[in-house]
Amino acid sequence: MTRTARTPSGLLIDGRWTDTAGGTREVRSPHDDHVVAVVAEATAEDVRAAVAAARRAFDSGPWPTLPAAERGAVVSRIGELVREHTEELAELESLDTGKPLADSRQDMADVAAVFGYYGGLGPALSGRTVEPPTRDVASEVVREPVGVCAQITPWNYPLLQASWKLAPALAAGCTVVIKPSELTPLTTLRLAELAAPLLPDGVLNVVLGAGDPVGRAMVTDPDVDMVSFTGGLSTGRRIMADAAATVKKVALELGGKNPNVVFADADFDAAVDNALSAAFFHAGQVCSAGARLLVQRELHERFVSALVERIGEIRLGDGFAEQNVHSGETPETVHIGPLISRAHRDKVAAMVDATVAEGAVPRAGGRAPEDPALANGWYYLPTVLDGCRSDMTAVREEVFGPVMTVEVFDTEDEAVAMANDTIYGLAGAVWTGDAGRARRVARRLRHGTVWINDYHPYVPQAEWGGFKQSGVGRELGPTGLEEYTEPKHIYHNLRPARSGWLGTGGGN
Ligand code: NAD
Repeated sequence: MTRTARTPSGLLIDGRWTDTAGGTREVRSPHDDHVVAVVAEATAEDVRAAVAAARRAFDSGPWPTLPAAERGAVVSRIGELVREHTEELAELESLDTGKPLADSRQDMADVAAVFGYYGGLGPALSGRTVEPPTRDVASEVVREPVGVCAQITPWNYPLLQASWKLAPALAAGCTVVIKPSELTPLTTLRLAELAAPLLPDGVLNVVLGAGDPVGRAMVTDPDVDMVSFTGGLSTGRRIMADAAATVKKVALELGGKNPNVVFADADFDAAVDNALSAAFFHAGQVCSAGARLLVQRELHERFVSALVERIGEIRLGDGFAEQNVHSGETPETVHIGPLISRAHRDKVAAMVDATVAEGAVPRAGGRAPEDPALANGWYYLPTVLDGCRSDMTAVREEVFGPVMTVEVFDTEDEAVAMANDTIYGLAGAVWTGDAGRARRVARRLRHGTVWINDYHPYVPQAEWGGFKQSGVGRELGPTGLEEYTEPKHIYHNLRPARSGWLGTGGGN
């Protein structure tokens, strides 16, 4: 069955779905390359119009000055709408990304939770009074919305990444122009269609299209106060440089090269099981994927053998496979779908080949599957590269595919040094039965999230983001809301008097 999507036509600018002179773009299924939707492609002029609408809505509209509780109620209601439309949104997400429907449903539950969290947190965000120098002064720091926000998101978790940006920005009173990845625009469009009637015109604007010129026009527009970007490191560098011309506030959530550190005293079965999901969930297209396994020498061979044995249990296939089963039996679930595009699979394959040429030992995968049912999609087998060193391509660079590299360490100090030997610092995990060592290592890892005896869970209440070149700023948690505010100090002299700067002369 060939599935297609019904999406709004045009761009959302100033509360209206608007035509563009930029033409259209085909959105294709990574599973079999069929066209799932045709969407509008914005021009730089469309971006200008969207930013101008957001500027007007911020400068003169009611949104930034509404009581935070009223804005919070709207943000929470958007979360409820996501919950009510879970099935439809999940299908759009799986159409776009190829990920299993079960994963997309979980993503939608997470999206709803993020809107619910910030809907409640917004009203709690308050300034603080400051101890004044004298009793005749009142001094307070208030939090103001930062203004017009340009938000640019990637293709791996399209709506979830959008929710991490939209929910706090709206709760804080900002106005927004958002651009989803050109590869995965569908859920952002549908969410905007659901949310726009709840918001004053111009508060939420959606533009579509390529990073350059569409994203670039957002970043360079002088009327934009803040850019929030999630995506690759090289794009992040470019955006930071482009934003410098107008000294915008910039928030960046970039890639990771995330160590999964397994000591010999770890719970063996749990560590093996989680090492597989850490590296291969969503075909490794996860910024926090545990793609870099560091295992203690005495456990190494037993651990890698167990990984290779169990890797065969990972089923690749159509994200909708579960729905295609019509018998009354438990449907065969699919664990992972394809990579996002042909170009991305070529890049992953080239990085694997380069790392093998550098001396890595392939223990599993390393190629596309032979199943003819998957021949039209961008599938790649879960791959384990053993015998790796920290200077190898796939160990140094983010592969963003189903590829695990394996390195060996002897001591705790060596494990920490290796885990921190990366330009990235997004996430990592430590597996050990020794509680003291678990906390010591967790504190020494220079990564923004550290799991102990687990991998992947996150909660909207806790900050997410990277040390080093994994990013600037944080999403989620209270900090994720504060990022969309500017602190302002108000100093109020309760007993005005001459300053005395010019002495006592003059005056009447
Ligand atoms: P990408 O950098 O290619 O694109 C991301 C977005 O930026 C897209 O919307 C794209 O159109 C836009 N863009 C591209 N060039 C631009 C420019 N010059 N100016 C403005 N916008 C531009 O990233 P991707 O391939 O879509 O996503 C994968 C990357 O995202 C991975 O590196 C992954 O680690 C990262 N990621 C990070 C997190 C996190 O929380 N840290 C979460 C998800 C994904």
